[in-house]
Amino acid sequence: MRKDYHMHPRVIEGYERVEKFIETAINNNFDEICITDHMPLSTSSAADRIARGKVSEYYKKVRDLSEIYKDKISIKCGIEIDYHPSVVGEIEEVLSQGDFDFVLGSTHMQLFAPHLFDGNHKYTEFADLAWENTLLAAKSGYFTTISHLDMFRWAFTIPERFPLVNDGYTEDYHRDIIEEILDVIEDKNLYLEINPHLAWKNEKNFELVYPHPDIVKSALNRNIKFSYGSDAHVASQVGKMYDMLKEHTIYSKALDIWENVK
Ligand SMILES: [Zn+2]
Ligand SMILES: [Zn+2]
Repeated sequence: MRKDYHMHPRVIEGYERVEKFIETAINNNFDEICITDHMPLSTSSAADRIARGKVSEYYKKVRDLSEIYKDKISIKCGIEIDYHPSVVGEIEEVLSQGDFDFVLGSTHMQLFAPHLFDGNHKYTEFADLAWENTLLAAKSGYFTTISHLDMFRWAFTIPERFPLVNDGYTEDYHRDIIEEILDVIEDKNLYLEINPHLAWKNEKNFELVYPHPDIVKSALNRNIKFSYGSDAHVASQVGKMYDMLKEHTIYSKALDIWENVK
């Protein structure tokens, strides 16, 4: 089964109709999708979030779409949740609003501690925080899936917003905590998402896929379930890079597991 389990049509107040995302998935021969709009969050005014108080409306609308399209494609209802210990109360409130099929655990660190990142901080310090929070997210018990595991790398592509001192950082620096996170993902039977969203400008650069190929290689040595999520914010991105990833020596193995997982 071809499945894309991460997309943001902004079901309630989208600028493109959610139907356009669904039709794109059908046209690209996907058998199943999961809609995963962002949870409302007191610390973020981002326009791509479900508005506060609208989570149950979102849930109902996705279930209605699932019924309407059931002969053409299977549609699951998920949600993307930002993990940080300081917002656990908000997470529990959101999760009580629907019986979600898939709960993406994300650590969009820069949303929570912008004061840490407004100067010339070291690449390594920034990554420390991201990995530590990701470990807490994996352990938290709220999620079915750890989404875009090393998404903090995105900050390094926009130095005008995050002027980090380049100290020659590579993910090898955090090898121990990465291995610990993978162990938790395995122990808790979570999915580890393959997410090509950062490669939107350069689809040939697999180094930009989350997680980095070296991490996926290590994850493949464990009994870990993978998922695929395009993280589409516009309909044309649904199913992004899926066929290219299916040809890649490492990612293809992860997607084979995803296509066959129950
Ligand atoms: Zn995200
Ligand atoms: Zn997302």
